[in-house]
Amino acid sequence: MSEQTSFFENVNKSFDKAAKFTKWEQGILEQIKAANSVLRIKFPLKRDDGSIEVIEAYRVQHSHHKAPCKGGIRFSEAVNQDEVMALAALMTYKCAIVNVPFGGGKGGIKINPKKYSEFELQKITRRYTSELVKKNFIGPGIDVPAPDYGTGAREMAWILDTYTSLHPGEVDAAGCVTGKPVTQGGVRGRTEATGLGVFYGIREVCNTHKVMDKLGLTLGVGDKKVIVQGLGNVGFHTAKFFRAFGAKVIAIAEYEGAIYNENGLNEEEVFQHRKKTGSILNFPGATNIPKSSDALELECDILIPAALEGVITKENADRIKAKIIGEAANGPLTVDADEVLSKKGIVVVPDMYLNAGGVTVSYFEWLKNLSHVRYGRMEKRFTENMNKQILGQIEDMTGKKVGSAERLLIEHGADEVDLVYSGLEETMISATREIMDVWDSNPEIPDMRTAAFIVAINKVGTAYDELGIFP
Ligand code: GLU
Repeated sequence: MSEQTSFFENVNKSFDKAAKFTKWEQGILEQIKAANSVLRIKFPLKRDDGSIEVIEAYRVQHSHHKAPCKGGIRFSEAVNQDEVMALAALMTYKCAIVNVPFGGGKGGIKINPKKYSEFELQKITRRYTSELVKKNFIGPGIDVPAPDYGTGAREMAWILDTYTSLHPGEVDAAGCVTGKPVTQGGVRGRTEATGLGVFYGIREVCNTHKVMDKLGLTLGVGDKKVIVQGLGNVGFHTAKFFRAFGAKVIAIAEYEGAIYNENGLNEEEVFQHRKKTGSILNFPGATNIPKSSDALELECDILIPAALEGVITKENADRIKAKIIGEAANGPLTVDADEVLSKKGIVVVPDMYLNAGGVTVSYFEWLKNLSHVRYGRMEKRFTENMNKQILGQIEDMTGKKVGSAERLLIEHGADEVDLVYSGLEETMISATREIMDVWDSNPEIPDMRTAAFIVAINKVGTAYDELGIFP
């Protein structure tokens, strides 16, 4: 966000910057930008102590150029209509960029989930869902929520149960929400999907000669120093995949402070330490950074803000020393910050493409729910039998035997998680290349965010154009 303008205005500012490079007439551009439907509800909650509290909640359907609408539901005290509209808009562009056939949506409940018991949270989630049902704002073909900041598989299971009890016999009901537990129709790989997508996206950027040469960095992620802000689901898994592929996560920041170790931090150990002590600080072998935001300004190759919006502003942008910023969160940079960073030659890999792994795997989950069959169920054994035959033939012909580890690898038929990871990897690689091609096509395009917006605007614009006359 710019310090003066709202989050939604900021998204639209970035949109306008990109729209100049497209052929669409003003009317279509205005329609693409508009938030189509905004639902604001208030409902009472009887708290465990018997008192009554009024809960404020939203669901925004930003675009109906494709159905259903798609996007997470967040539980946060900062929720307001403007924020939900901005996040819903980002979902429209995000889905377009990764070719996921949904319109953008987002929901929010204005609560701090830490201040409520599990029973109270369940009551809030179920009441919110039944309000969405009443208003026709949820359904496998209408609008499909998912986890976001402050929510996870548990809340999605409550949403599913409330929806199905209000729609008995609806055979595709499981597709009314994604990010569900695997036992409730979820897909394997959804939990880590956003973090893995962030990793795949940055890895592809790091494999692009032109970008790395410009930044004076070597190709690949293996030798890179990474800083992650936020150890929630997205930050945790992003750190995990960077570490697994040889990068060093030298600092991790949370709201109570940050820690630094130039030899690298193990996110799992840090997570356990925080769970045990209640704070990320005083992690064995690491240096404390009491002011959390100072961690963003440390020397590193890749900075990953994976918490909330508006953390890099005009105020601190000038002090950022990272070469690449990967926006794992939605909207972590303000427009003003963007300009400063762009002038400094820092490559900002934009949110609505980089964190699209979550919605991409949500799409796979939704398809699984509609097809009523687990990925890999039909072909796994067939592939394994075939691979055994081929390997046997090769061994007969060459008179050599392959080792047992290689044999397992070659014979293996794909499980659900293999297919989900491969679908996600392919999606992130092709999206990166498409954005890079647009960026390369015109030297006037200032940054990767503008290139990503151009890709999104062209896809949504084409969909509206092909729909013909507006009704
Ligand atoms: N909340 C995630 C996002 O912002 C996931 C949305 C989804 O899976 O629908 O992209």
